[in-house]
Amino acid sequence: MPAPGEDEVLVKVSHLSLDPYMRGRMSDAKSYADPVAVDAVMTGQGVGHVVESRAEGFAEGDLVTGMTGWQSHAVLSGKELRKLDAVLAPSTALGVLGMPGFTGWTGMTKYGRPQQGETLVVAAATGPVGSMVGQLAKRAGMRTVAIAGGAEKCRIAQETFGFDTAIDHHAFDEVADLRAAIAAAAPDGVDVYFENVGGDVLRAVLPLLNTHARVPVIGTVAWYEGVSTDGPDTLPALWRQVLVKRLSIQGLIIFDHWDDFPAFLDEVAPLVKSGGVTWLEDVAQGLENAPQAFLDMLRGGNLGKQIVAL
Ligand code: NDP
Repeated sequence: MPAPGEDEVLVKVSHLSLDPYMRGRMSDAKSYADPVAVDAVMTGQGVGHVVESRAEGFAEGDLVTGMTGWQSHAVLSGKELRKLDAVLAPSTALGVLGMPGFTGWTGMTKYGRPQQGETLVVAAATGPVGSMVGQLAKRAGMRTVAIAGGAEKCRIAQETFGFDTAIDHHAFDEVADLRAAIAAAAPDGVDVYFENVGGDVLRAVLPLLNTHARVPVIGTVAWYEGVSTDGPDTLPALWRQVLVKRLSIQGLIIFDHWDDFPAFLDEVAPLVKSGGVTWLEDVAQGLENAPQAFLDMLRGGNLGKQIVAL
């Protein structure tokens, strides 16, 4: 058991967040963050209670969140921890009111710029990023089209998250057929494609983008296991679309935006408390089940934000 030093806190972790970005930390390909070293503790955000505190402002029993890693107990400095509002379920700090919800909010407010009457398409629509994006777009008066894996997720996208329509991407073998389904669901074209997945969904949506469409590029989970370089080079076609449709394509790494986190909480926490924004969680039990739950999530096995309860 680690002991806290001066200005440090010992936290007993109760909930651990599993996020797609972790796949990148398990690769030594050059990225925006260093990989986790072999034999080091796997990185990750957790929620837990303070067991022992030698840091000002933290006392035994406080509910906190921070980058605890995949472990039952963590020692962190007071500066690395944030106290949580005990009124809400602790795990909301990992999803709807944590990094993924904040990513959806930032991507939409800064780069999606939703307008009344426009159309949004987002994949991984029942996940914590996609479900936030869909709900914010709906609140802004957009037509919202969900892409999700399977009939059950499509039902939840509409019934729980209020998407106008939902398309099961597993139901199509050909990109052209998926494209036809999205075109039917978005008869006025697509104004915001919130990029969560890449792959066939991107291929299907690209020709459906309207002039001046916005594409916040958040993640490409379909390619996290490697990108095939077979087949014809589509780069010229992509570049032509960017030019003739004057597309705004903007990458977003949430690290750059933490200064806006209080503004996000000010706006979205009251909505979560009042039920104006809702969320779903998929909870795996036990730290020993974290690796399998992580693999399942990358393949779409999760229904809502993937959490591990310790
Ligand atoms: P989710 O909980 O939604 O989990 C990932 C989902 O991706 C799966 O459930 C699955 O949903 C979908 N998926 C997997 N493979 C494919 C595929 N080949 N085609 C279409 N969909 C697929 O994840 P999050 O909401 O946490 O994250 C969503 C995206 O946002 C990820 O790409 C993630 O990396 C990114 N992200 C980026 C951040 C940044 O700073 N840039 C910060 C946070 C997240 P389904 O079964 O519905 O297909």
